[in-house]
Amino acid sequence: MSFTLAIVGRPNVGKSTLFNRLVGKRLALVDDQPGVTRDLREGAARLGDLKFTVIDTAGLEEATDESLPGRMRKLTERAVDMADVCLFLIDARTGVTPTDEVFAEILRKRADHVIVGANKAEGNAADAGVLEAYALGLGEPLRLSAEHGEGMPELYAVLQPIADEFDKRAEADAPETEVDVEDDDPDAPRPITAAKPLQIAVVGRPNAGKSTLINRIIGEDRLLTGPEAGITRDAISVQTEWDGVPMRIFDTAGMRKKAKVQEKLEKLSVSDGLRAVKFAEVVVVLLDAAIPFESQDLRIADLAEREGRAVVVAVNKWDAEEHKQDKLRELKEAFDRLLPQLRGAPLVTVSAKTGRGLDRLHAAILKAHDVWNRRVTTAQLNRWLAGMLEQHPPPAPQGKRIKLRYMTQAKTRPPGFVVMCSHPDKLPDSYRRYLVNGLREDFDMPGTPIRLTMRGQG
Ligand code: GDP
Ligand code: GDP
Repeated sequence: MSFTLAIVGRPNVGKSTLFNRLVGKRLALVDDQPGVTRDLREGAARLGDLKFTVIDTAGLEEATDESLPGRMRKLTERAVDMADVCLFLIDARTGVTPTDEVFAEILRKRADHVIVGANKAEGNAADAGVLEAYALGLGEPLRLSAEHGEGMPELYAVLQPIADEFDKRAEADAPETEVDVEDDDPDAPRPITAAKPLQIAVVGRPNAGKSTLINRIIGEDRLLTGPEAGITRDAISVQTEWDGVPMRIFDTAGMRKKAKVQEKLEKLSVSDGLRAVKFAEVVVVLLDAAIPFESQDLRIADLAEREGRAVVVAVNKWDAEEHKQDKLRELKEAFDRLLPQLRGAPLVTVSAKTGRGLDRLHAAILKAHDVWNRRVTTAQLNRWLAGMLEQHPPPAPQGKRIKLRYMTQAKTRPPGFVVMCSHPDKLPDSYRRYLVNGLREDFDMPGTPIRLTMRGQG
């Protein structure tokens, strides 16, 4: 069993062109089948080693751009219902039109997985359209050119995990089937792969206790630890289950392995030690309580933020601290002062050696991951924006007030928001910070980078 992909979108965006590219000579018209697929073309698609069914809603050229006749809506809804994944095409050269918005609304309500494809994206003329596609709030758009075959590796990369999930599901379903309990929160992020391990990286200066901590988490002495500082290794990872949660832990440095495993691990390693950060969803910055917030620690925390990762700060060797209360106050103060960009990120004290505080670290990681994945509805955001504007109106340079009109969350992991506004270039940084801090507070998103893009409108 494989999955079914529906290509949807208004006329003329390139659906048929893409359909033909995916299906090639294997095109199988099923027009003559009774019922369901009469107006829908269905074909056996292949992309790399992936095989799946593709359905196309093309062939409705009489529909004009300005309206969305009932027939077209019905057809699209049917395709969406039949499909496991929808590829929503827009024409990146034209940008997002009102008709595209209507399609986006149908997909938001009805579809499980949506991939946005900004088609006709060959060359630079499409850049603005690709940006607009972000603002649809349906995830990061893929740049495609159906006609020139561009973006196919990227399409493959997003479809591959879905195919995997289907294969797994098919296996799991084979014996006595147990019905999955549906998540009843429509805004909850939908994981593409069911039991994908949470990816964390433990980073920090040599001797901070990274290996000791990871050993403690994986519960065996697979990594050898020692007091000698400095043997920097490239990123390697171990998969484990920590209190029932599957996790893959990446480590940058200081993992001293038993000789036997070492060879194998070295082959897996990559040249850039900081790659662990790039792989991770949540980065645990591990500090040594005796020498916290060294410049190296600050650099890596800042890097994690710039890479858009969720950050948890863990202060290790807490067992050796004498004046815990005073120390903690001092640490919090230093954190706020030295890492303002990570305002509100959790600070957890632990002892990798004794295991104390690891339950709190576990909880902080899950919470940070959850926040990083959070999605706020457009309705909530716009209510919120109205309140913020009223409380503190934006400035009016040269007597012309900057208007912030509309806001939407364009992406998660980390949360990214787009505000449509007049004169975006004139909006001072202080106002942007006001909005970012407000989002953090009001939607409870501590410790995650928040991206805010101002976009001009006509
Ligand atoms: P549909 O109505 O959505 O099925 O769109 P079609 O596949 O019929 O394509 C509409 C027009 O856009 C045709 O003239 C295609 O040649 C053209 N087209 C499709 N894909 C691309 C592309 O990637 N780049 C450019 N420049 N044109 C494209
Ligand atoms: P890494 O270089 O970051 O991997 O650090 P290691 O895990 O090798 O630890 C460096 C040293 O710190 C070792 O001597 C550990 O025994 C010690 N250490 C690690 N965690 C703790 C802790 O929680 N408390 C104390 N007192 N020492 C620790």
